[in-house]
Amino acid sequence: DVTFGYDDHIVLNDLNFAIDPGEQVTLTGRTGAGKSTIFKLLLGLYRPGSGKVLIEGEAAYRITDKEKRKKFGYVEQSFHMVPGTIRDQITLFDPEIGDKAVQASAKLVGLHETIMSLDHGYDTLCKPELFSQGQWQLLSIARAVAGEPKILLLDEITANLDAETEARVLEALRRASVGRTVLSISHRVYEKLGGRVIEIKALDEGK
Ligand code: ATP
Ligand code: MG
Repeated sequence: DVTFGYDDHIVLNDLNFAIDPGEQVTLTGRTGAGKSTIFKLLLGLYRPGSGKVLIEGEAAYRITDKEKRKKFGYVEQSFHMVPGTIRDQITLFDPEIGDKAVQASAKLVGLHETIMSLDHGYDTLCKPELFSQGQWQLLSIARAVAGEPKILLLDEITANLDAETEARVLEALRRASVGRTVLSISHRVYEKLGGRVIEIKALDEGK
């Protein structure tokens, strides 16, 4: 029964859904319907105006940052670089994510060989021209799985990729999804990954 708005602008009204552990679900709906907003509520970045957003029975906004890394892997539409090395992009400076986990994540998305071919390997300092857009997207999946989260949140992650890169990203996703609950936003991921679809209606639709 979630209602949420940014200031006076109501975006979600009496929204209800439940997702079982291990389920793969796609949120669809037209632009501006509130799909990315739902992810922000699930991540506890905002509190609902009324109703409850519960993750394993706990109010999302009460989950601490430290716990969040174990619960959620969040892949946004574009990659956000942190100042630092390739390793830092994957660990986000979390000392609990060691070299083994870093390399396992990079291998999962098929970037390990590419990284090892660089002079400084995982210690290479990052700048935008180091990788292609698709490679950065693969790195963002590596970042999302490095903390071994139970839940993956994927927001339109193949939207700007060519067909061949999209296929690589989807393959990495299939591997990353095993044993996890996955929520994705995109028509295209649904077509290729399968699973249940939840349609998010914009509030002015059908009026
Ligand atoms: P798209 O498919 O285009 O990504 P979406 O379904 O993800 O759309 P949201 O990004 O959740 O839509 O936005 C829903 C509504 O909330 C839009 O009207 C948007 O302008 C508004 N909105 C989103 N973020 C904010 C914010 N930080 N502050 C104020 N309004 C916002
Ligand atoms: Mg969005």
